[in-house]
Amino acid sequence: MLRILVLILVFITTVADAAPRWVWEDTFSAYEKQQLTQWISHAERGITNLFGSLPYSYRVHFHRMTQKRGPVPWANTDKRNGRAVHFHVNTAFSQGAFIKDWTAPHELSHLMFPYLGRENMWFSEGIASYLQYQIMFANNTVTWKQATNKLQERFSAATRYKHYDDMSIVQLTKIVFETGAFVRLYWGGAAYFLIADKKLYDQKQLRLNDVIKIYLDCCVFQRRHSAQAMMEKFDELSDSTIFTDTYSETVMQDGFPATHEALSWLKHNPPPLR
Ligand SMILES: [Zn+2]
Repeated sequence: MLRILVLILVFITTVADAAPRWVWEDTFSAYEKQQLTQWISHAERGITNLFGSLPYSYRVHFHRMTQKRGPVPWANTDKRNGRAVHFHVNTAFSQGAFIKDWTAPHELSHLMFPYLGRENMWFSEGIASYLQYQIMFANNTVTWKQATNKLQERFSAATRYKHYDDMSIVQLTKIVFETGAFVRLYWGGAAYFLIADKKLYDQKQLRLNDVIKIYLDCCVFQRRHSAQAMMEKFDELSDSTIFTDTYSETVMQDGFPATHEALSWLKHNPPPLR
């Protein structure tokens, strides 16, 4: 009997550890709390369907915001004191609108990687942007066709800024706060990960998500402060030079990385689910 009790307790603790800790920064009704926690758990399910259970715990802070422009007008992560994500939410929007919004998948994927500073933003935002629609596919919010169409739309929108065609994505990172060219920066970074994903598949029979999974298992608690260090780690974990090579060939070159070929490949190769 005691053994059963201990087993039950271990089970409860494990489940409790895995769930995020909810922090209510403003007053929310019991119904709103239920809807908001379900929304985040749904997004997290997309991540665990891709990467398995997460090796870290995190806090989710909810702030009330009444702006009309969407269910989540603002969100950010904070890794200074453990892992935390802040969502500023407008609960006038329906649960369906929250589920269809890409913000939670995007922010939760930031939690898998260290804060690399503004100068490495192409890497941090690129990987979160590349993963956000995959997460929405993995929790059945969108089909794979819809996910890849979304990627295509984002790449087209990003390449519309012809203004920056004589500049690399890495150079753009240095002036993005003055120019506001965030769309081009985010999706230029995502293009890097798309191209690396295809190369991993062609050369190593691996996917980017396999490398991220190995990283989560071995190295997520190691401190790393630059995109360079992350690329070298990913090279080591994939037993390749794909990440540093792709860096020189794409985001270091002037203009927006060419995504056409890799995107056609991706359309036929959804990420395997666990
Ligand atoms: Zn982001």
